[in-house]
Amino acid sequence: MNVHSPAEQTDLLSIDALSKRFERQPGLIARAGALVGHPPDRRAVQALSDITLSVRRGEVMGLVGESGCGKSTLGRIVAGITTPSSGAVRFSRSGRAAPGGAQMIFQDPFASLNPRKRVRDIIGEAPVFHGLTTRREMTAYVARYMELCGIDPELQDRFPHQFSGGQRQRIGIARALAVEPDFLVCDECVASLDVSIQAQVLNLFMELREKLNLTYLFISHDLSVIEHISDRIAVMYLGRIVETGPTEELVRNPRHPYTRALLDEMPVVSAAPRAFQPIRGEIPSPLSPPPGCHFHPRCPRAEAICTTNQPGLASVGPQHRCACHFATTES
Ligand code: SF4
Repeated sequence: MNVHSPAEQTDLLSIDALSKRFERQPGLIARAGALVGHPPDRRAVQALSDITLSVRRGEVMGLVGESGCGKSTLGRIVAGITTPSSGAVRFSRSGRAAPGGAQMIFQDPFASLNPRKRVRDIIGEAPVFHGLTTRREMTAYVARYMELCGIDPELQDRFPHQFSGGQRQRIGIARALAVEPDFLVCDECVASLDVSIQAQVLNLFMELREKLNLTYLFISHDLSVIEHISDRIAVMYLGRIVETGPTEELVRNPRHPYTRALLDEMPVVSAAPRAFQPIRGEIPSPLSPPPGCHFHPRCPRAEAICTTNQPGLASVGPQHRCACHFATTES
C-alpha cells in the first residue's frame, strides 16, 4: 500500500478549454421518416463549453450543479472514460506516478459492481493485472484495502448483494483505491445512500484523503455535501462553469445568482437570514440553450445584455471567479 507524502501545492490536474458535443443519433422512427422525405433532427448537445479548471495535489475540488448540467460528463472525461471534443486534460506526473492514475467512483454501487463476482475478485483483479500484487497474495492485499475502507476482510468471499448499500459503496471505494490512484473522481457517490450513511461515507473519504494524500474531484447536485468536503468549489450551469472559489469564500460571498439560488435551497440553519430569491423554472434543454447568459430565463437579476452577451469568468476576489455581467458591480 502506498502512503503518499504530504500534500504539495502544485496542480495535479489541469483542464484547459475543454468542450464536449454529443451528436444525436437518429432513432428508428427518425430514420424511417427520412425515407419519406422528413430529415431527422440532427441537433447536437453541447454538454461542456470551454471548461478551464485546475486541481492542486491533495485538494478536494467540489463540482456542483443541477442534474444534466454536464458535471458527470466532465468527471468521465477526467477519469478517461469519455473523450473530449476539444481541449485538454493533463495530469502532472512530477514525483510519483500512480499506477491507477485517475479512478472513478459511481453513484450506484450496486450497478457498478459485478453481481456474479466475489468481493475478493472485484477488488483484487485490477491490482493483479497492474502487477501491484500476485494472485497468491491477492487475499492479503484485498484484506488491507477492505480494512482501510471499514469492511470486514473476512467477508471477501461474499457477493455484492450480501452487503448493504453503504458497504457496497465502501467496496467500490476499496476497488478504486486498490490500484493506487492519486486522483479520484467521485460522481454523486453518496446520493443513493441514507443521510446517516452519507455522513459515514463522507467521513471515510476525508480519512482516506489524509491517509493517502488523495486528490478528489467530488461531483454532486447537493451543495451541502460539496460544502462539507471541498476545499474549493466550481459551480456548473448548462455546460459552463459560472463560479469558482475557495469553499468558505464562495459560500459566504456568492457572486453568481445561480450559486445564490443553490445556497438558498440548502437545508441549513443559518445565523444570517438570506434575502436571495429561490431558484425558479426548469433547467433549459441543452439541445437549445438560451443565448447570451444561459441562466438569463431563470435569473432574478437579468437585464437586456444578458439575453445576447455571454459573460466570461472574471476575477471577483482572491482565487474567486464569476461569470456574470454584474458580479463585479454589486456588493
Ligand atoms: Fe443573471 Fe445576467 Fe448575471 Fe446571467 S449575466 S447571471 S442573467 S445577471
